[in-house]
Amino acid sequence: MLDTRLTDEQQQLRKTVEEFAREVVAPVSYQHDRDKTFPYEVVRGMAEMGLFGLPFPEEYGGMGGDYFALCLAIEELARVDQSVAITLEAGCSLGAMPVYRFGSEAQKQEWLPLLTSGEALGAFGLTEAGAGSDAGGTRTTAVLSDGQWVINGSKAFITNSGTDITRLVTVTAVTGELADGRKEISSILVPVPTPGFTAEPAYDKVGWHASDTHPLSFDDVRVPEENLLGTRGRGYANFLSILDEGRIAIAALAVGAAQGCVDESVRYARERSAFGRPIGQNQAIAFKIARMEARVMAARAAYYDAAAKMLAGLPFKKEAAVAKLVAGEAAMDNARDATQVHGGYGFMNEYLVSRHYRDSKILEVGEGTTEVQLMLIARQLGL
Ligand SMILES: Cc1cc2nc3c(=O)[nH]c(=O)nc-3n(C[C@H](O)[C@H](O)[C@H](O)COP(=O)(O)OP(=O)(O)OC[C@H]3O[C@@H](n4cnc5c(N)ncnc54)[C@H](O)[C@@H]3O)c2cc1C
Repeated sequence: MLDTRLTDEQQQLRKTVEEFAREVVAPVSYQHDRDKTFPYEVVRGMAEMGLFGLPFPEEYGGMGGDYFALCLAIEELARVDQSVAITLEAGCSLGAMPVYRFGSEAQKQEWLPLLTSGEALGAFGLTEAGAGSDAGGTRTTAVLSDGQWVINGSKAFITNSGTDITRLVTVTAVTGELADGRKEISSILVPVPTPGFTAEPAYDKVGWHASDTHPLSFDDVRVPEENLLGTRGRGYANFLSILDEGRIAIAALAVGAAQGCVDESVRYARERSAFGRPIGQNQAIAFKIARMEARVMAARAAYYDAAAKMLAGLPFKKEAAVAKLVAGEAAMDNARDATQVHGGYGFMNEYLVSRHYRDSKILEVGEGTTEVQLMLIARQLGL
């Protein structure tokens, strides 16, 4: 697919990942979804291609690309498999990026080569059972004692936190009280395994079956004082800034999903006949697919715009929220329309569109719900 907004190098990356998605990911997607298994062999393949290092400098084992390159790769993977795409998104933008953005040089040297090579995965523990959209409601605590942080509490819905190759979970925890009585929240690196840290049994989810998601518990988990990530008391603000970027990557994932629904629907509407002609010759079906294509193009433009602003060092909070909002809705709307185009087959799990139907719902919830995006946009408008 020629896109005049992309450089030759970006086109090449897109093409390489598209081929990998088609030839390596797609053939095993149904099986991993059905069996709810983590696709280790696919992740190893992505690691060998350098995808986990895309937005990081070479000195830390990265590929020297940028965040937009990561988004392009995530979009291509999501066309055929959202679980694989979120594994990459969370590995890079939630697992490794906090260390890269806020870590000391020693922390970067210790963790980034491991994470950017894809040899290991890192996870991002912000959400708790009682603190989701209102993530500042963190109740997990970390108390400094004899040169160690002692962490107690729990986290909910944490991606990539319980795989065989998970080596790091970065968590937010209350480390004290500010002068005005508000919580002082800091972020702390917890190597995996560490005694007292448990990834509880995986969730039984509606979709993203091949993505790894667990509740986590921390029972007197002790890590060295140097594992504080960034400035004490800045943990919550730092995590929120990671989410601003992450929204662009999730928007890219949603665009990929919405595009996958168009791909499948065009093919099916040409192949499937009813009443003696292909169903795509009925305007009701053709218009439905045309509208799906329009949603994809608008959402892609929104995330390209947000990424361009971010990379230019311009404010991008509103653009990232808009991209996440429109792309998440485009994925869900396209998944609903694509299953309709597929009739009864769209309700069968071996059809990609049925997987997109189950998988896309979370795109209106994760990394900030639709309502949270509206809140952010309204705030940027001064409301
Ligand atoms: C598969 C999966 C993977 C995830 N991965 C991670 C991860 O890796 N790391 C991590 O930290 N978190 C992760 N999450 C958590 C995710 O970010 C939260 O679920 C999400 O932010 C919503 O929080 P909540 O579930 O507590 O919903 P709530 O915040 O309880 O929201 C419930 C509803 O109320 C609405 N609402 C809340 N407040 C307002 C308001 N002020 N105005 C209007 N509406 C409002 C919400 O929009 C939503 O519709 C993941 C979740 C899932 C399901």
